[in-house]
Amino acid sequence: MARGVIPRQPAKTGRHDAARKAELRTAKLPQDGGRPKRNVLPVAKPKTKIAKAVGPKTGKRPAGYNPLAPERIGEILTRLEATYPGATCALKHNNAWELLVATILSAQCTDVRVNMTTPELFRKYPTVQDFAALKPEAIEPDIKSTGFFRNKSKSLVGAAKKIVSDFGGHVPDNMDDLLSLPGVARKTANVVLGTWFHKNDGVVVDTHVQRISRRLELTKSDDPKSIEQDLIKIIPRDKWTLYSHMIILHGRALCVARNPKCAECPLENLCHAADKTWSTVEIHKSAK
Ligand code: SF4
Repeated sequence: MARGVIPRQPAKTGRHDAARKAELRTAKLPQDGGRPKRNVLPVAKPKTKIAKAVGPKTGKRPAGYNPLAPERIGEILTRLEATYPGATCALKHNNAWELLVATILSAQCTDVRVNMTTPELFRKYPTVQDFAALKPEAIEPDIKSTGFFRNKSKSLVGAAKKIVSDFGGHVPDNMDDLLSLPGVARKTANVVLGTWFHKNDGVVVDTHVQRISRRLELTKSDDPKSIEQDLIKIIPRDKWTLYSHMIILHGRALCVARNPKCAECPLENLCHAADKTWSTVEIHKSAK
């Protein structure tokens, strides 16, 4: 050991020097400038959150606010029509039967995938009579990529047989008869009636219509049948089909399920959705 260097000794208090120094560093300095007090714990600083660019949150709606007011609904429709001019069904089809087939195939599948599948399917089996003459297993390989292909093939062949036997080979143009076809529920029937026959018998409620109608406080339900009934009461009948088409486009382009693009949305100042990513208006906690 070098001369003059004194080895470190244990502290007389029995505690290590480093621990004492740390304690002194964290102790609060008294206002009077005296010695720092021992055993005073530092006050933890509150963690600051990164502020989100959203408006104030409240569970209460301002007095006089009515999300179902006809003026508000009208404004929503006007802005959607301006944003999505000529909105229509994205499923490719040349007749009512092809639209029915495409709609059945679109369950749990994207329209893009269905549009990749149907051209070859209709090339092989051009008419409803061709489908009616098949066994379901025969078209399973052709529609496999759309998912749930066993059920879908049974629905397609079953619907074709019934259309040929009961409706003279023509897709029926009314709700009751459409609902009598295998694999056809209200959503499919509404697509065919509204898009091909231009009959507004109901509102198509798919996942986009469900999510966005709730965000816009047009319904509180999460059951498609109840949502349809709620929408029928507040949307003018001549816009029922159009509303669905526009909302489906809106749900794909901007009002996506996670992180909707609210800053770009034409409905922004009419929308109080709880999960908005940007807002210039009050947020309503129940609007989701
Ligand atoms: S403001 Fe946001 S949450 Fe509301 S409709 Fe537009 S994209 Fe959807």
